[in-house]
Order: sequence, then structure tokens, then C-alpha cells
Amino acid sequence: MEKEFVVIGLGRFGGSIVRELNKLDIDVMAIDSDEARVNEYADIATHAVIADSTDETVLKSLGIRNFDHVVVAIGDNIQASILTTLILKDLGVAKVTAKAQNDYHAKVLDKIGADTVIHPERDMGRRLAHKLSNSSIMDYLELADEHSIVEIIAGPKLEGMSLLDLDLRANYGLNIIAIKRNGHITVSPDPGEYIQRGDILIVIGHDNDLGRFESKLEDN
Ligand code: ATP
Repeated sequence: MEKEFVVIGLGRFGGSIVRELNKLDIDVMAIDSDEARVNEYADIATHAVIADSTDETVLKSLGIRNFDHVVVAIGDNIQASILTTLILKDLGVAKVTAKAQNDYHAKVLDKIGADTVIHPERDMGRRLAHKLSNSSIMDYLELADEHSIVEIIAGPKLEGMSLLDLDLRANYGLNIIAIKRNGHITVSPDPGEYIQRGDILIVIGHDNDLGRFESKLEDN
């Protein structure tokens, strides 16, 4: 059975989710209290509805509990975001993802039962800071508290070493889960694989261990 999605709040963030789901040919209901915003998405969403999501009766009448996943993308109006999330969980929506504006907001959303809390501005800021901090880092993805995946580009310090020579697991407690080379990706690369300049190593591990390895690669 196809999944059914709802996005509440059609700002830049919620709007981009609706557009992307539409591109992926996935049905999505888009809800906003602002008529102009809803009109913008009339031809993009499967259904675009003007509604105040803090009104439980309205959400019930839209049959919201029958949807698999609702994204609450209301940011600035923290009260509306919290109340909406609370009503959705009360009505029995299986999966609610809510966008937080700040850490307190995130805490409250988590406490009232949001299944996933996202913090796009903070996460993008962290990601960019990691990229800026070290020229070897191509990308950074926080997985959970204190664990991340980083993409590290191989420079002269790594060139010509085999994964066995590098032995990241023994030396740093890290695992190389894949190597990207010339647009191709090799998952679980062979330990005998030699690293070439420009390879991108996709490495997973604890932030402290990643930090130790990254600092070894300064000016890599
Ligand atoms: P973004 O950072 O995603 O661009 P934004 O600043 O454009 O966000 P927000 O204030 O975060 O907008 O709100 C996103 C949308 O949520 C707005 O279009 C707003 O009309 C809508 N919204 C706010 N409160 C409600 C509500 N109670 N019911 C439905 N939609 C709402």
C-alpha cells in the first residue's frame, strides 16, 4: 500500500517537502492557514487545504488519523506547532515529524510525543561548520548523540595507503563504510584496497574518534 503524507505549514521548509514528494510522485496533502500559501501549492500537492491545524475538529474532518506520516513544518509560531503536534498524537497519527525552532521547542516536541524532531537550521549550521573546519571534510551527517558519518577526501597523506595500512578500526575505532571514486561507490570496501588521491572515504564513528582522525588530516 502506498504511504500517505501530510505537510502542515507551507513555509520554505514545508513547501520544499511538498515539492520534492510531488517530484517523487508521492501523494501529499498540504495544509496551511494562509490562503495565498495554499493556492501556491494547489497544482503541486495532491490536495491543498486551507485549515488551522490547532483546531482539532478540522483535523478530524480531514481524516488526519488515516495518514501514515504527518510533518509539522510550522516554525515561527511555536505555540501552534506544539498544539498541532499534541492533537495529532492524541488523534492517533502513527508518525509525526515536527520541526523545531530552538532547543526548548525541540525538548517540548519530544516530550509531547513527536516521533521525530528535526532542527534543520541548527543541523545545517553544524554541517557547514564541520566542512569549514577542515578542508578534507566534504560532508558531515550527525546520526545520533555523539555519532556521525563524515565524507573525507583523500589527499597526499592517505594516497597510496591500503585500508589495512590505515586500520581505522584499531587506530581510531572508526569504520569505513564505503569509498566513492570517479562517481562510483563501493560499499564495504576490501581491506586490501589502495586509496587514490581524490577518493572520498565515508567513515562512521564516535565524534571524538572522528575528531582525532580529522585533526591528523589537517592539510591532507
Ligand atoms: P520557513 O523557515 O520554513 O520558511 P516561515 O518563516 O516561512 O518558515 P513559519 O512561520 O515557520 O513560516 O510557518 C510556516 C507556515 O505555517 C506558514 O505558511 C504559516 O501560515 C503556517 N502556519 C502557522 N500556524 C499555522 C496553523 N495553526 N495552521 C496551519 N498553518 C499554520
